[in-house]
Amino acid sequence: MKFELSHDRRSITNQDLIVDMRRVANAHANSQFTQALYRQHGKYGCTTTIKRFGTWNAAVEAAGLRVIRKKNISEQELFTALGELWIRLGRQPKYAELTKPYFPYSAKPYEQRFGSWRKALEAFIVYANSEGREGPGIAGKDSELKSRRTSRSINLRLRWKVLQRDNCRCCSCGASPALNPGTEFEFDHIIPWSKGGETQLDNLQTLCRACNQGKSNQ
Ligand SMILES: [Zn+2]
Repeated sequence: MKFELSHDRRSITNQDLIVDMRRVANAHANSQFTQALYRQHGKYGCTTTIKRFGTWNAAVEAAGLRVIRKKNISEQELFTALGELWIRLGRQPKYAELTKPYFPYSAKPYEQRFGSWRKALEAFIVYANSEGREGPGIAGKDSELKSRRTSRSINLRLRWKVLQRDNCRCCSCGASPALNPGTEFEFDHIIPWSKGGETQLDNLQTLCRACNQGKSNQ
């Protein structure tokens, strides 16, 4: 039984999937062509379709149908993606750099939310410079950590602040992704967290991966 089922699935061609997606889209021309719609009316499974084309949107594109982009991306998600890109590049990202694979969105949701890319950057800086709820003061729940004021992990805001203070360069060798392609930043506790060093600006430094690994091997 199982063999027959999987054999059946293999015999479905990509063209079969596309034809059926178009059929459903045409039959429901007044509705947005979503996975939910196809699940309800389609002949094949969404999972099969996704497996074939990589993503649902890729399948929709292959069928020549209009892709529905995810709309409600939260402000937090937008800031996180922007901050991670900023750290990766070692400088303020440019409009043209908002592309995959390192960036999950396009500039569009930023423009929609903030009015322009420039304004999005300004809003991010206000966000990054604020303390935030996840700022210093989070003590570990573990009884061992009772004496600690901060958790070991370094949140995005704090990593971004450390990077700005260090002028986007490795504190040990001066490397930066902007000048030395391939440089990857890591954030290091100067007094190790395991030895009582807190996760706060004055106990953190920007290091490139090579220098940080050298440090931990000492
Ligand atoms: Zn270095």
